[in-house]
Amino acid sequence: MEYKQCSKCHQLKVVAEFRKGRKQCKGCIAARRAAYNAANRERIAARIAAYNVANRERIAARRAAYNVANRERRAAYNAANRERIAARLAAYYVANKDRCLAYKVARRHGKIITKYTKQFFQTLSFGSKLKTQNENEQNNENTNS
Ligand SMILES: [Zn+2]
Repeated sequence: MEYKQCSKCHQLKVVAEFRKGRKQCKGCIAARRAAYNAANRERIAARIAAYNVANRERIAARRAAYNVANRERRAAYNAANRERIAARLAAYYVANKDRCLAYKVARRHGKIITKYTKQFFQTLSFGSKLKTQNENEQNNENTNS
């Protein structure tokens, strides 16, 4: 087996413990990254949040496309991990009860039919079948008169 010495911890390690072309072992690189992340937690969170806001439509469209393209794969995963997923959702619900209830209410009142979902289905060109609640109400008025 081929060995290499880490320039940081100075231990002699198997080459597989190093990324190609790196002088520090994977363990030392991971430790450095973890220390950086811990020291810059707020800055990193703010950067990610800003990115997510600026790219909201793009992210939602990509996620929706992924979900459609991987429907069978997701169904298989969900079936294989049913208990684990249920436990995670239950724990989330307990920890975020107010948030969950607010979401549920907003959804019921049609405030979250996500224009992103709608936009995505429009790009698939059968979007004309999807209507927001307001449009449905308008159509009902038209057929009634
Ligand atoms: Zn090392």
